[in-house]
Amino acid sequence: MSADALLDRSLTEQVAALRAREVTSAALTEAALARIGRDNPRLNAGITVDRVAALSAAAAIDAKRSAGAEIGPLSGVPVGLKDMICTEGLRTTAASKILDTFIPPYDATVAARIRSAGGVIVGKLNQDEFAMGSSNENSAYGPVRNPVDETRSPGGSSGGSAAAVAARHCALTLGTDTGGSIRQPASFCGVVGVKPTYGRVSRWGVVAFASSLDQVGPLTATVEDAAIALDVLMGHDPKDSTSIVGAPESVAAALDRGVGGLKIGIPAEYFTQGCDEEVAAAVRKALSTYERLGATLVDVSLPHTPYAVATYYLIATAEASSNLARYDGVRYGRRAEAYSGLADMYGRSRAEGFGDEVKRRVMLGTYALSAGYYDAYYLKAQRVRTLISRDFARAFERCDVIAAPTSPVTAIGLGERVADPLQMYLLDVFTIPASLAGLPCMSLPCADRDGGGLPIGLQLIAPPLQEGRMISAAAAYEREVSHG
Ligand code: GLN
Repeated sequence: MSADALLDRSLTEQVAALRAREVTSAALTEAALARIGRDNPRLNAGITVDRVAALSAAAAIDAKRSAGAEIGPLSGVPVGLKDMICTEGLRTTAASKILDTFIPPYDATVAARIRSAGGVIVGKLNQDEFAMGSSNENSAYGPVRNPVDETRSPGGSSGGSAAAVAARHCALTLGTDTGGSIRQPASFCGVVGVKPTYGRVSRWGVVAFASSLDQVGPLTATVEDAAIALDVLMGHDPKDSTSIVGAPESVAAALDRGVGGLKIGIPAEYFTQGCDEEVAAAVRKALSTYERLGATLVDVSLPHTPYAVATYYLIATAEASSNLARYDGVRYGRRAEAYSGLADMYGRSRAEGFGDEVKRRVMLGTYALSAGYYDAYYLKAQRVRTLISRDFARAFERCDVIAAPTSPVTAIGLGERVADPLQMYLLDVFTIPASLAGLPCMSLPCADRDGGGLPIGLQLIAPPLQEGRMISAAAAYEREVSHG
């Protein structure tokens, strides 16, 4: 098989071909770069392509393999990273003008893990600025087009990461998810996206948006591929104070467990709340597939769901306003050229460097944290967050995993919701609650698409640290609908 044809195959198949020496990492990387070069002017999935370094990393892996050395589980496959993830010597913009020229002096832990597992980093992927958005239209580098239908948004904020997998530029990309930014674009583009348990994957070296919510995770074409990637990414990192101590169990080892006897919770609240009928129907059909496979469906209730979006937009903006204070024109990136005095320099650098949505969030967050409003907004939101976590804990007394739609709608048209931030925020109703509760969750494509041929995402949510259980449930469905 040619290197180009191999790009259409899964990560697992690419790894197998590399191990069998049917293809070199250099040839596969060259083919990926050629596809990126061909498609990027249209799709705009990438912000920075790292041609020279990628080809030299691939050649080094090939030389190691020829010398008989062991290569890690990624074996020389091309990988793309969301531009929130710092890469040593390679520009990392967070899709913001304020970081347009920022070249990190170190790799984020996740980037280092990808490299040491034998991944070849080919470039940095487009996203909403500072990961704030649901359509990838808040990028200073322009919107991304959805490869399934180029008039539509790929979702956000990890829109470039989902589009790059859907367009088969890379079999594996990394995204970040604060309130849905891996799952929702995965759902819009028809790929698999996983947000691990909060703390399971290191955040060190990842541009911070809302630190109590941010998590890195993989986007892939198949569930098995996601499992392989999770095993590479998960694990304790002493450099991240919220990193969970202890070695995670292998997720790939759980792939074949099946769903016989599994209790799947169905939250009624996720099938109303503005959920499109076609989306609900496709998810219900997936649930009946689970029943046929031996799982039991249980009705559960997550009664605080209607408060999740408001809660998230207080907590996330509050944390963002604090995290983004560091972009002051002194320590990172852009500084205004003309100014009079220090305060003016700060003000102008930020006014010129940040886009509208980022400014909106910094203002909202600063307001929510300010004296006199703190108790009414931020503290109240923290309390509701606890209630949302308790909803899940109670539901998990009756079931093993929860299944629901990922997004209430399929991929929105480009430009469709930009004028109305509230409508945009409402796209996250089904992804935000699990983020607030810190739970592992994922999106995988339902067998059915909508009437326009657009993918529909099935969301699975599991108790803390149960990535293996969640992935094995996802794999069982995927096996059934792809071979059944
Ligand atoms: N769409 C949500 C927001 O705009 C979630 C973003 C994310 O998960 N990074 O904040």
